[in-house]
Amino acid sequence: MTVETRISDTRGADSSSRQEGPGGLWDSVKKAAFVIGSGILFLAAFGNSLTWHLQRFWGASGDFWQNLWTKLYLAFEGHDTALFYLGTMLIPSVAFWASNGLLLLVDITGKPSFITRYRIQVDKNNPVDPAKLRHAVKSVIFNQVFISGPMVVVCYHLMSWRGDPCGPELPTFHWALAELAIFSMLEEVMFYYSHRLFHQPGLYKHFHKQHHEWTAPIGVVSIYAHPLEHVISNTLPVVIGPVILGSHLSTTTLWYCLALVSTTISHCGYHLPFLPSPEFHDFHHLRFNQCFGVFGVLDRLHGTDTKFRQTKQYERHTLLTSFTPLMESIPDSPKKGQ
Ligand SMILES: [Zn+2]
Ligand SMILES: [Zn+2]
Repeated sequence: MTVETRISDTRGADSSSRQEGPGGLWDSVKKAAFVIGSGILFLAAFGNSLTWHLQRFWGASGDFWQNLWTKLYLAFEGHDTALFYLGTMLIPSVAFWASNGLLLLVDITGKPSFITRYRIQVDKNNPVDPAKLRHAVKSVIFNQVFISGPMVVVCYHLMSWRGDPCGPELPTFHWALAELAIFSMLEEVMFYYSHRLFHQPGLYKHFHKQHHEWTAPIGVVSIYAHPLEHVISNTLPVVIGPVILGSHLSTTTLWYCLALVSTTISHCGYHLPFLPSPEFHDFHHLRFNQCFGVFGVLDRLHGTDTKFRQTKQYERHTLLTSFTPLMESIPDSPKKGQ
């Protein structure tokens, strides 16, 4: 505990001085490059033994996926464009609205209690304000249709020009895994810095304030944002990876679904068992000036999680592996509410 505190203290003092000048920012970027570089080295060193175990599992099911893809490929022969949009627009949208549909049922009705008992900000959205929700949903649909849609069309042209995103052969398991790791790192870097930029007072007022109208977020609010923010912070960090790597449609589809479902979870407002913890981004909505990234790596590096790490929310920021809500096992302190 002492070590932990000491690290956070140094980081706090360090970062407040660093955030000032442009030299400080450069220093931060160098540190980020160092961490990401180390990550790649780590993967290179231990990746083999890690993936060996996964490959054993994959070996049995690999043919199954390849056969499935071959069937789809033959069914759409000559209609690559349709196949691409099915995988990059339709399937990810279904994943988004299926998960959000379930969450919305809970948000609107305030039931069932076996879900609502996991609510992070207990007194909020119980039930959710219908007018506020309607406004958010309209904006989300606008962003999906008029921003994400056209951006995926651009991606299709870039990816087709670069290679064949709908090739007959699926990528190997190792390569798909490596791609997902690279996509995640790109997303963390691009989302963190663009998000912090949108928190600069001038930009915040005009663009990002909209997303922060929800101090207690719900799933669907994950892409409730000003269109410019939706382009730069939400969509670009996700779609850029597959374009750079010239990925196969299967990996791209999987990645878009993962990105949409994970941002839904991080906004959903319920810390449910056996799902990734949403505490980090929920805290960003509560406090505004903490926890800007996706995974938290860059926040640790830049000291933008120091206040978060002194809270109960940070203690609860783990994978819940039992059915006891963390609000019960780690209750708020009886004195002031943070
Ligand atoms: Zn958010
Ligand atoms: Zn923000």
